[in-house]
Amino acid sequence: MKVGQVDFNDYFSHYPDKDGLFGKFGGCYISEELKAAMAEITEAYYSICQSRKFIAELRRIRKEFQGRPTPITHLERLSDALGGKVQLYAKREDLNHSGAHKLNHCMGEALLAKYMGKKKVIAETGAGQHGVALATAAAYFGLECDIYMGSVDIKKQAPNVARMKILGANVVEVKEGLATLKEAVDAAFAAYSREYKDCIYCIGSVLGPHPFPMMVRDFQSVVGIEAREQFIEMTGHLPSAIVACVGGGSNAAGLFSGFLNDPVDIYGIEPLGRGEKLGDHAASLKYGTEGIMHGFNSIMLKDENGEPAPVYSVASGLDYPSSGPEHAFWQEIGRVKYDVINDEETIDAFYRLSRMEGIIPAIESSHAVAYGMKLAKTMDHGSVLINLSGRGDKDMDFVIEKYGIPEN
Ligand SMILES: *Cc1c(COP(=O)(O)O)cnc(C)c1O
Repeated sequence: MKVGQVDFNDYFSHYPDKDGLFGKFGGCYISEELKAAMAEITEAYYSICQSRKFIAELRRIRKEFQGRPTPITHLERLSDALGGKVQLYAKREDLNHSGAHKLNHCMGEALLAKYMGKKKVIAETGAGQHGVALATAAAYFGLECDIYMGSVDIKKQAPNVARMKILGANVVEVKEGLATLKEAVDAAFAAYSREYKDCIYCIGSVLGPHPFPMMVRDFQSVVGIEAREQFIEMTGHLPSAIVACVGGGSNAAGLFSGFLNDPVDIYGIEPLGRGEKLGDHAASLKYGTEGIMHGFNSIMLKDENGEPAPVYSVASGLDYPSSGPEHAFWQEIGRVKYDVINDEETIDAFYRLSRMEGIIPAIESSHAVAYGMKLAKTMDHGSVLINLSGRGDKDMDFVIEKYGIPEN
């Protein structure tokens, strides 16, 4: 299938190009020192990802440790409640070990570290989800693990801090500035410049300098490959549309990868939070402009000084002021449509899916569920496959405190 100049028949052999570009987006905008480290990872990745041994080991781990393939569930009661003309389905990444899709790329990155002979993995974390997934992978492989986290987030996310420590990770407190995610990223990058001979940096989404957007997409593509096969086996045809939430964009890139060359409408959903005013949402692809941050060129939300703007979403996993460069590219060429869902619609979908299907979704994933329901109402037949990126256990305390438990 061709969209403009882009031929999706052999898309993955051309995107990204050797400089890590998806059209004008992506690239590698970092210090000379780190460039050497990135070049080492790039080279290792290109050779290791062809290695039969590496691929076989990753497959075995996915099956025996992660519990893959994760199933697809037909959301029958929810579909009926919406009129029954359109059928909704969910790809169950909430059933992936540790409760979300994040482990898919963390296991890949940690296995790469092992093959490269590194002793340690390092990363930053905001809400702690990426930190927990990486700590899980590090424990599995017997690697050391340093997770950089702002003091403010350490206080807010006590259960995830405890999880990381139980898994054997070293949580490094970052006290500079506002002491949240941005400072944690800076501190983790600084540590990486000092220690890159012994460790690799593991980014938490399809973000950062080349080769990370490509690597994380490739590791997540298992979601789309499985989903396409399973969906056809279940129903005899392709879904009419697929939907995923977009923070950095890794769960979306994983699902979308499997369907780019198919006649399937693809929707990436960003958080509209409290509304359209800058600071009230994190819908970077919808309201942002081109710019460079954290080592790559993409579409981002900027403040009046051109710096990354403050963002907000009820889902802490979605509140990032930019999105992966490949999403900016898919938006530009028109292959994927990006739309938004606000906090209220999200929380409504969270309760609806819980009560009608017996699945408590992560608040991030609830954005995709809300959009899937909205989309179904505009169609008169067909099917919608929603990526359920994670489970909602982590959100329980927050939802109960903020929204209460609805009466029966
Ligand atoms: C982190 C997270 C996300 C957002 O990350 P992406 O890279 O955009 O996928 C979405 N859902 C869950 C459950 C998460 O933990």
